[in-house]
Amino acid sequence: MVKLRFMGGTHEVGRNAILVESEQARLLLDYGVKIGDEPEFPAHVRATDIDCIVVAHAHLDHSGGVPLFYLSERKPFFATTVTIELMELLIKDFIKLSGYFLPFEYIELENMMRQRKDLSYGTEVKLKDINFRLVNAGHIPGSAMVELSANGRRILYTGDLNTLDTRLVHGARVPKRRFDAVIIESTYATTDHPDRRELEEAFINEIKDVIYNDGRVLVPAFAVGRSQEMLSVIHAHKLRTNVVIDGMARKVNEILLDHPDCLRTPRTFMKIISGTREVRGWRDRREALKRAGVIVAPSGMLQGGTAVFYMERLALDERNGVFLVSFQVPGTGGAKLLETGRFTIGEREEVVKARVRHFDFSSHAGKTQLEAFIRGLRGKPDIYVIHGEPESCDALTQWIRDELGLNAVAPNDGDEFNV
Ligand SMILES: [Zn+2]
Ligand SMILES: [Zn+2]
Repeated sequence: MVKLRFMGGTHEVGRNAILVESEQARLLLDYGVKIGDEPEFPAHVRATDIDCIVVAHAHLDHSGGVPLFYLSERKPFFATTVTIELMELLIKDFIKLSGYFLPFEYIELENMMRQRKDLSYGTEVKLKDINFRLVNAGHIPGSAMVELSANGRRILYTGDLNTLDTRLVHGARVPKRRFDAVIIESTYATTDHPDRRELEEAFINEIKDVIYNDGRVLVPAFAVGRSQEMLSVIHAHKLRTNVVIDGMARKVNEILLDHPDCLRTPRTFMKIISGTREVRGWRDRREALKRAGVIVAPSGMLQGGTAVFYMERLALDERNGVFLVSFQVPGTGGAKLLETGRFTIGEREEVVKARVRHFDFSSHAGKTQLEAFIRGLRGKPDIYVIHGEPESCDALTQWIRDELGLNAVAPNDGDEFNV
């Protein structure tokens, strides 16, 4: 028997954490953070109580709380090399921005980095009576699903999952092994993404429209994954215009280029990066605003980051465009912009005159892909649905029960199950 305990990230997107307990070992799958006005962590897990942490990918909702385990303990953490290096970058930035609210500091991050255990896809690890390995999750470079087995039971944790190829990475495949339990994300369980080719064309056409009228297009995008994907889309359509990228981009790109295996087309990526101007400071930022072109900047939800700086300067001119390309968590600046057409500039809520669009460039499986993935699983696993808004978690759970007749549940934080 293996025990699963859900510590966070249930019925919400943010702060994933699942404790896996076998007869001899305790392994933590992810320990993320939910970023809001104040960062929220999963339920407390004592560092002395676990043997190791396995991190699915670098996004902070999966990795942001890991330094908490290095206040006094020195447990190993496992992830792909790209994930580990991106984690270092993202957590450093997180400490810089939110340090006041955090129970850890740079020193804990350093301690964490000393306990890194780099894993390539497919390499088996044995930790007491638990065996595990990472396989490609198709979500961002370095992202992984975790296949683990203990006490004769097999468990799959998808982390964030995308089964379709994107410009940046290969899509995930359905694992061939049989599982007794599968923990799956459900970010887009109720929505199908538009056809990728049509989406790209619409995006490019709208950009052309804006820049031919001497406007600037702001593409708010997260620094890791989505920014590089958007550059790749622009490159593939041979758009001739000024393209600048802001926010940690240089370091992220360096990490990706150091590990070309994590990319679908490393050569093309290298070309894209050499053709893109990188913003290195405030002077570059003001410069970027002077010319027609595309500015890719974080954060993807217009919640902090330099995208807000650009937004404040572009929003009130109808020649400009603001093209959102990510999931907009309710309550964020981006979500409010889509709902109301307004954005807070300084102290005032202003009606945005720039053209606002939302393009669904997701790196998560949509409804159809999630369903196909679950259908493709062998055996009759129990399914645990997490990492989605409450409606998404519940809808996918219901679909699994009705359509496939499998046991499915959308757990709550603190719930425990025996596999
Ligand atoms: Zn993610
Ligand atoms: Zn996530």
